[in-house]
Amino acid sequence: MQTVPWEEHTGEAGGASYIAPVPEPEVARIWFFTRKGGFSEPPYDSLNVSTLVGDEPEAVTRNLSRIKTVMGERLSAWVRQVAGDGIVRVKGPGFAGEGDALVAGERGFALVVAIADCVPVALVGEGIVSMVHSGWRGTLSGISGKAARGMDGEVCAYIGPGIRGCCYEVSEELAERFAGRFGAGVVSGRDLSLPEAIRRDLKEAGVGEVHDLGLCTGCRPDLFYSHRKEGPKTGRNLAAVALR
Ligand SMILES: [Zn+2]
Repeated sequence: MQTVPWEEHTGEAGGASYIAPVPEPEVARIWFFTRKGGFSEPPYDSLNVSTLVGDEPEAVTRNLSRIKTVMGERLSAWVRQVAGDGIVRVKGPGFAGEGDALVAGERGFALVVAIADCVPVALVGEGIVSMVHSGWRGTLSGISGKAARGMDGEVCAYIGPGIRGCCYEVSEELAERFAGRFGAGVVSGRDLSLPEAIRRDLKEAGVGEVHDLGLCTGCRPDLFYSHRKEGPKTGRNLAAVALR
């Protein structure tokens, strides 16, 4: 699969480390935050954003504050992720309900999802952005394509760090369902590539440019949390997008 270059940004205001595509889109900012530059102790070290995994709430609060600083003091809009294909249209920051994708056409705040192996997908249209949390269920139901179809103008997609075929063996039944839906190329034996399935879904939805950063959360424990590799006692990475 074709991948695009990316760059790790460390030591910027606030200190939270993130990865961004190179070049970044002209009309939006994208931050795929790593696990580096935060306050959480092992096994949540160190930029964990979830209070639901057993980490100290105070550390999470400090981590979120650092992340906000890196994002130019933007507030965030977030959803209660339920591993489905629900898309929530938001008008401002704050809790936006249940779903696995956010869409907004307003400036001044960021759309965020929390990730540990599932794939964050940032979509950039004309004056509109979306952030998608695409686990296997959401990917199979085509959540990224669904989000893209609801956006105005030409849409560009950025597939962020998630678990890839090298680290994601699934049941034979699930592998067959994916091959049946997206074509044989998304699986190799029982190894499933969620990013490849997402790329095909986005292409079907008419997205012209699909940029895959090529990063695997399972292969890079130095940069990302991985539920598959580290078990339930691990953190969550934040992925964010905002109009400039
Ligand atoms: Zn891997």
